Amino acid sequence: MSKKVTIVGAGLVGSLLAALLGKKGFDVQVFERRPDIRKANISAGKSINMACSARGWKALDLVGAGDTVRAAAIAMNGRMMHGVDESLTFQPYGKEGEAIYSISRAGLNQILIDHADQFENVNFNFEHRCLDIDLDTPEASFETKDGIQISHSSDLIFGTDGAFSAVRAVMQRLKHFNYSQEYISHDYKELSIEGKGGEFQMEKHALHIWPRGSHMLIALPNPDGSFTCTLFLPYEGDNSFEKIRSEQEIKAFFESKFPDAIKLIPNLVDLFNENPTSPLVIIRCFPWTYDDKVAIIGDASHAIVPFYGQGMNAGFEDVSILDELMTKYGDDWKVLFEEFQTKRKPDADAIADLALKNFIEMRDLVGQDWFLKRKKIERALYETFPERFVPQYSMVSFTDTPYSEAVRIGNHQDLILDQLAGYEQILEIIDKGELRSFIESNNIIEQ
Ligand code: FAD
Repeated sequence: MSKKVTIVGAGLVGSLLAALLGKKGFDVQVFERRPDIRKANISAGKSINMACSARGWKALDLVGAGDTVRAAAIAMNGRMMHGVDESLTFQPYGKEGEAIYSISRAGLNQILIDHADQFENVNFNFEHRCLDIDLDTPEASFETKDGIQISHSSDLIFGTDGAFSAVRAVMQRLKHFNYSQEYISHDYKELSIEGKGGEFQMEKHALHIWPRGSHMLIALPNPDGSFTCTLFLPYEGDNSFEKIRSEQEIKAFFESKFPDAIKLIPNLVDLFNENPTSPLVIIRCFPWTYDDKVAIIGDASHAIVPFYGQGMNAGFEDVSILDELMTKYGDDWKVLFEEFQTKRKPDADAIADLALKNFIEMRDLVGQDWFLKRKKIERALYETFPERFVPQYSMVSFTDTPYSEAVRIGNHQDLILDQLAGYEQILEIIDKGELRSFIESNNIIEQ
């Protein structure tokens, strides 16, 4: 099985896939538009941070990179909500010991390229931009940084070239190829809270959130004591990137909305002006494969908004599923690709919907009393019936339950939570430790 494979895009998913196929003995050529990220000088705060959870770890362990990544990651055990009155409220993400992990995207990408590069049968070609694909041959053509055009043929081509995939652009010209691209109303901008003498200025093991209705700030920890922050604002209208421009407007906005954060970002105005404002896009398309020759995975086939922290995790899970199907079908790529896309598409759609729903939860609901009440009930149910009631967030982040199944079960759970939240005494019942007898005597959970 020494098939020749071309991978277009050495981002997170492409470099992970290269490591998997390298380990399996394929002859792998990876082509990446950008220069080698391992040689770039990326300081903390200049790269997005990722929250890595169970699906991500499963794939990283599969290729043998999990422990190296763990050493560079920081556990976040829950959300720390920052009120406008500077109050702090902590909500654990799951049970004791369950956490999501903060890791810099650039750092993770460097680890994965290094990991894949150790296989003699994997070769990286940086500064090669994919121009076109001949799907039938299959052959990919590239332009180098010197403007030279080359083509490369292989048995298989994987497009892991992200939300604006060149490989997908070729497939889009095929008959019956469905495609949609949706920008949400909000853009984002990176900011940074530096460490003080290497010490964290806020709780280290938390994902910090400043939920403010139509806008939101979040911060994820880095090993050097800093936090990478992301500000989400509408791109136009009130309190938008379009309206907040001058030094005075930036400071006034932060002072009224994020008073505790502004004290920790002395260089706010410079960061705000220097760092780009970027859009958030949802991509849905189908099919994801062409014959037994070409497949698009990761953001190239399913880009989602970042509010569930699952885009990368979902792309990594694509790689785990391809691995399972290679074990099942061996060299029969036609059957393998067909099963891959049929099995995976409903899950990609499900996590796209969940991520959008979580945007509302994060920016708005997490600060509201009724929501906190429901969360408390949910947590008590999980602790009382750990086998029968696993909250949707836990299913998505701490298990590999298919995303579509998590949606189905979550809808059923919503009905139970609504019913319980309707009982006036419910929080007292929970505090007295009488939830089990209350549920059993009222026949509430029957799944
Ligand atoms: P990309 O990471 O976009 O990589 C694509 C690669 O292809 C790039 O290296 C690019 O240079 C290269 N390329 C593009 N075009 C060409 C071409 N024509 N020729 C050659 N190479 C090309 N996910 C999580 O799981 N957890 C999170 O907490 C999280 N937070 C996020 C926060 C923000 C603000 C954003 C925007 C996203 C977040 N995500 C998160 C999503 C995550 O970043 C993506 O899902 C993930 O990066 C997708 O990986 P990929 O390899 O498919 O695509």
